[in-house]
This record gives sequence, C-alpha cells and structure tokens, in this order.
Amino acid sequence: MTVYSGPVFEMATNQFNVIANHLEIPVDERDRLLLPKRAITVSCPIHRDDGTVAVFEGYRVQHHLTLGPTKGGTRFSPSVDIGEVAALAIWMSWKCALAGLPYGGAKGGVNVDLATLSGRELESLSRRYMQEMIPFVGPHTDVMAPDMGTNEQVMAWFMDTYSMYQGRTVTEIVTGKPVASGGTLGRREATGRGVAHLASRVMKELAINLTGATAVVQGFGNVGSYAALDLHHFGLKVIAVSDHTGALHDERGLDIPALMHHATKHGSIAGFSNQRHFDPAEVLTLRCDVLVPAAMERVIDGKIAQKLRCRVLAEGANGPTTPDADLVLEKRQNEIFVIPDILCNSGGVVVSYFEWVQDLQQLFWEEEEVMRREYQILDRAFDRMVARARADNVSHRTAAMAIGVEKVRAAKNTRGLFP
Ligand code: GLU
Repeated sequence: MTVYSGPVFEMATNQFNVIANHLEIPVDERDRLLLPKRAITVSCPIHRDDGTVAVFEGYRVQHHLTLGPTKGGTRFSPSVDIGEVAALAIWMSWKCALAGLPYGGAKGGVNVDLATLSGRELESLSRRYMQEMIPFVGPHTDVMAPDMGTNEQVMAWFMDTYSMYQGRTVTEIVTGKPVASGGTLGRREATGRGVAHLASRVMKELAINLTGATAVVQGFGNVGSYAALDLHHFGLKVIAVSDHTGALHDERGLDIPALMHHATKHGSIAGFSNQRHFDPAEVLTLRCDVLVPAAMERVIDGKIAQKLRCRVLAEGANGPTTPDADLVLEKRQNEIFVIPDILCNSGGVVVSYFEWVQDLQQLFWEEEEVMRREYQILDRAFDRMVARARADNVSHRTAAMAIGVEKVRAAKNTRGLFP
C-alpha cells in the first residue's frame, strides 16, 4: 500500500513486474526503479465568476531524476488523482527512455470538471496551478506539456505565469506552447501524426493496402483528431469516431477534415451530421484494419480484447490496454499487431523535446525538419522493439518496456546510490 494505490497505479505496477521478471531484476532493485522520486500535492484557490472562492487539488509526480529533467503533460480532468498521475509519470519514463530522450518521466494534473469552468476561471486555475508549482519545476528540473483537458493556450498561461515570477521570458519552462509564444512548428500535430505514421508503416509491412483500408478512432481530442486526419490523407476510410458526447459511424468513411473543423468550432463531434449515431462502447469492437484508442486509460480489458476485430492496434492514449487484455492479445498476436502506447504516442514528447531544445538554443527549425527527425526517432524505436520482441520471444509491449526500463536501470546502476 502506498499513497498512489488505486487501479491505474496497480496497472503500471503489474506491467513493471512483468518486465522486472523478464529482465530478472533483483527484488531489492525494483522499488528503486518503480516508485516515484517526488510527488507534490497543492491546493489551488481561485475566484469564481460569482465572487465565491473555490479550491482545486493539483498534483505533480516526478518519477526519476536519473537522466536529466523530468518531462510530461498536465491534465485537467475529474478522474485525476495522485495514483493516476503517478502511473502516467512512470509510463512517461519508459516512453522517454525508449525514444532515447534525456528525460525522466513526470505527469501532473488538477481534479476539475472543465464543463463547470468559465474561460476566465480556467485561466485563473491554470495560472494558480503553475504558481503553486514554481518551487518544484524549472527548465532543467521538470518541464510540463499538454495532456487531456489542456492545450496550447493553457501552456501559454503556464509559461507567462512562470516568466512573470522570474522577471524575464522563460519559454523553455513548458512545451506544447503556441508557435507565437516560443512553440515549435509541428508540435500540435506531432502525437497524432506519429500514431498514423507507425500504423501505416505496420500496414505496409503486413501488406495491407492503405487505400480503402478502414480505421476506427476512439477519442477526438488532439491525438485522435490528427491521427484520423493523417490516416484519411493516407487513403484510409475512417469509418467511426467517438468522443465523450457520442459516436459517428459511416462505412463509406467520415469526412475527417470537415469533422475536425466542426470539433474545433464546437468543442466536440456532437451535432456534426445525421450519420448513424451509435453506442460509443461499440466503437472498439468494430471490424477495421486500424483501431486507434486515443481517449482514456484502461478502455480495453480482457473481455474487449477477445472481441477486437482490428488488424493493427495503434495505442494513441496512455495505458488504454489492461494487463488482462495483454494476456489475450499475446495469444492473438498473429491476428492483431499491437503498437504499444509508449512507442505509438511518443511523437508528442519527441517533438516536445525538439521544442525545448529550440527554446534553449533560440534557433528554430522548419516543420519538415521537425517531422523528419520525429519519424526518424519513431522508426528507430520501432525497429528496436520489433527486433527485441523477436529475440526474446515476448510481446511488443514487453519488448518496448524492457528497452525503456533497462536504460533507466543502467543509468541508476552506473551512477550508484548516494551517499
Ligand atoms: N502528455 C503527452 C504524453 O503523454 C506529452 C508529454 C510531453 O510532451 O511532454 O506523452
């Protein structure tokens, strides 16, 4: 039992135990690798529009400090608690290590239902959260980014708040900022683009013709929408999309550019068209070539894993597949090619790293350069994962996580234990 105990932390722990057993890591080394180095809880009071004061609980977990600063998003969602944030921070560590980035993992969040906040209240909360975090973050300590419920505007407020306290502009304190405020070209699209890039690469390797192939996308936020858009541009028919308001289904393929336009304007896919609306729970089990879960963690459990009818499972979300589901998917590995989350959605943090580097150097790249380097890193990590899975006869997730865990472990062991 730790302060993090809860279903999401348990899932990260179970996954880690699989890897630790596979790598035969001695038991007395395991807690040092798994347990977060630091966890911070803050109270964020704000003035509501009606003149009252409301207090929101915020968190930040920094998993390990062994390879450099910590890195990871901040989510604003009613599901946020310290255990979920800790699990997400741990996954960030394996993700950064697999991609070869000089970071440990971190994650933060505020427990809030955004539907209950006005625009002004959201700005107050964003600024107050960053202000409370100032003693714990820094461009060489911990660098935030967007995640569920946050966006470029929130990052701009974070950056502005931190900068006002420093008395100078510190763009390198967060990534995922608007390009006008020190952001990089290609960051907004980076996660979804990476998902589509890897999914299409796998399809080519499986000899599935991209043109006319089908895709289903769960979640139409930053990740799902750009993944859907690129898959659509590659010639796939995106036959179903869902978000928190519902789901749309059209076997002829949805008009994804128009849907993106609609979702940007109205904040969701609701009211897009009179195409068949159906139960969002059914989205995951539709027959398709590529399934992209890009919403929440733990949406594919053992039961749903039995019912999946996709050829490629491209995990856009963090932790969408439970360890129970992994056992099923291992048995189905000849039918379903899994691109695990820590690889599949890592384009986001990879381009965040490019943004941080550009801000530190004050030297900005063309979008083509950003994309070329992003795909290079994703392809290299993909090759390593596939080679490792073959060599060790393990699943892609085990192989990807093993590479990440090994890297952190080697750094910890060569640095030694202080004092
Ligand atoms: N929140 C994203 C993730 O889960 C991005 C993190 C980052 O860019 O630092 O990977």
